[in-house]
Amino acid sequence: MRTIGLIGGMSWESTAVYYRLINEEVNRRLGGQHNAKSLMATLDFAEIEACQAEGRWDDAGALLASTATTLVGGGAEIMILCTNTMHKVADYVSNAASAEFIHIADPTAAAIQREMLSTVGLLGTRYTMEQDFYRGRLEASGLTVLVPDPARRERVHEIIYDELCLGKVLEDSRREYQSVVQSLQARGATGVILGCTEIGLLLKPEDVAIPLFDTTRLHALAAVDAALR
Ligand code: GLU
Repeated sequence: MRTIGLIGGMSWESTAVYYRLINEEVNRRLGGQHNAKSLMATLDFAEIEACQAEGRWDDAGALLASTATTLVGGGAEIMILCTNTMHKVADYVSNAASAEFIHIADPTAAAIQREMLSTVGLLGTRYTMEQDFYRGRLEASGLTVLVPDPARRERVHEIIYDELCLGKVLEDSRREYQSVVQSLQARGATGVILGCTEIGLLLKPEDVAIPLFDTTRLHALAAVDAALR
C-alpha cells in the first residue's frame, strides 16, 4: 500500500471527511485491521482565504508547494489537495513534489461519464464556478457545465465561507441549495457537481431529484485506488 499525502485545512471541516472516507474505504477493501497509510498537513485556512480574497494566488501556490515537498519528504507517494478552489494553483503542487498528483476534477469527470451524463451543474466557490481552471478541465473531457446565475452564485459562495467552512449546517441554506439545483435542472442539467469539498455536509442525494457528484468522496476514493494499485 502506498502512502497518501493530504494537504488539508481548506477547510478542516472537509479534511476530516476525507480522512474518514479514505480509512473506511481501505478497510472496506482490505478488511481486518487495515486502514490507509497517510500523512496530513493542515494549513490555517485564514491564511489561504486571505490569499484568495486579495488575489495572491502565487503566494498560496508557493505555500502549497512547500507543504507538498514536506509531505513527500515524510514519505507521501500520492498527493491530494483537499479543496476544489485551490486547484487553481494545482500546477505548483504537482510540479513541486515527485508524488502522484490526483486532480480533483478528473475522478469527478470520470464518475459523470460512467453515468453517461453530459450536461451537469456546478456548485462551488465563486472562483470555482466562474474561472476557467476548473470548468475548463471538465469541459475538456467533453462535459457541458452550467453554473447558477450571478445572484445564486453569490449565495452559494457565501454559504460555503460563512457557514460550511465553520461547521454550520443550516436547514434554510439546504433549502436554498435545493432551489439552486432545481434551477440548474430546469436549464438542462442532468446531474450536479458538488464542486466544493464542504457542500456534501449540507446537501445529500435524497435532497434533490438528480444525481449529485460529491467531489470529496470521488477524490478520496481515487486516492485509495492509487494507494492500492
Ligand atoms: N473547500 C472548498 C472547495 O472545495 C472551499 C474552501 C477553499 O477555498 O479552499 O473549494
